[in-house]
Amino acid sequence: RLILGIESSCDETGVGIVRLGPDGALELLSDEVASSVEQHARFGGVVPEVASRAHLEAMVPTMRRSLEIAGVELSDVDAIAVTAGPGLAGALLVGVSAAKAYAAALGKPLYGVNHLAGHVAADTLEHGPLPDRCLALLVSGGHSQLLLVEGLAHKITELGSTVDDAAGEAYDKVARLLDLPYPGGPPIDRLAKTGNGCAIAFPRGLTGPRDNRYDFSFSGLKTAVARWVERSEKAGDELPLADVAASFQEAVADVLTMKAVRACKDLGIDTLVVAGGVAANSRISGLAAERCAEAGIDLRVPRPKLCGDNGAMIAAIGAHLVAAGAEPSPVDLSTTPGLPVGTIQVR
Ligand code: ATP
Ligand code: MG
Ligand code: FE
Repeated sequence: RLILGIESSCDETGVGIVRLGPDGALELLSDEVASSVEQHARFGGVVPEVASRAHLEAMVPTMRRSLEIAGVELSDVDAIAVTAGPGLAGALLVGVSAAKAYAAALGKPLYGVNHLAGHVAADTLEHGPLPDRCLALLVSGGHSQLLLVEGLAHKITELGSTVDDAAGEAYDKVARLLDLPYPGGPPIDRLAKTGNGCAIAFPRGLTGPRDNRYDFSFSGLKTAVARWVERSEKAGDELPLADVAASFQEAVADVLTMKAVRACKDLGIDTLVVAGGVAANSRISGLAAERCAEAGIDLRVPRPKLCGDNGAMIAAIGAHLVAAGAEPSPVDLSTTPGLPVGTIQVR
């Protein structure tokens, strides 16, 4: 069966096509993404109206390219999955409206799915099915969560989340402080490779003995970087940019991987998936690999293209729902901008 996935929750218009085999195996046929990121760069963040308009313009061409690359016709598609939330209301509306139109015109079932479950499902396109019980560290532009995943189509429970900024948001804000371009993840990751991560001891949020074991906090870290930059400017020192980037990145990677491994140990779980746009970070995946190896945990991180927003991950979670025999969503499916991670499908 062919599952087509449509993503439009933020600034990426994605259409992906996945083949679901009789044994439940997933085969990735195409994954086309059109990004409006450059249009937002000068604002230092996504402008919702600009994103919605860009989705509207990109939807049909992206759909055409995806079908062409997969070498299939629209009429070959057996089910359509679309991001119903969480995300920007206007942006989600474009994808959901398109998906409803395609599903109605083709007479095929429609599945309104959770974008965050999609991020985790992306890994199954690369590394095959997940064990019945695993832990996911979901780190993206809007979220940072530790999730207990007991079947991607069945049960996702939030163990902890950020109490302030998301990890990706911290990268974007710190990049701004350092005069680096938006989005801040890739340039900080690159610059940090030439710096010393131990140069500056930036704070590790919520790691005290009385703090919540699974929650994160990154706003104190961001403020600490801002103070450090201010102080060195006042003193007339030249800012050791690479060391600041590396030390910031070290603080983020240290807390994320420490808490993820701790949760695995607490719950007796032996598989950790790192997912979301920030999972593309070289130090986060590197440190996670070291710490998981020490703890005997199997680490799974999708390749960078599958970490960022894309349509294939939406097709993947749709395929898991189809394989599990889930009922389709109603034809009058609506968007849910604040959809909680535990709601894998909007019914
Ligand atoms: P959400 O998934 O929470 O709705 P989103 O879809 O906007 O938010 P993603 O597209 O999953 O977020 O991820 C984008 C974020 O990933 C941005 O904040 C970006 O800076 C960050 N990012 C991308 N590459 C890297 C990297 N190599 N290192 C760190 N962060 C990165
Ligand atoms: Mg994006
Ligand atoms: Fe995302």
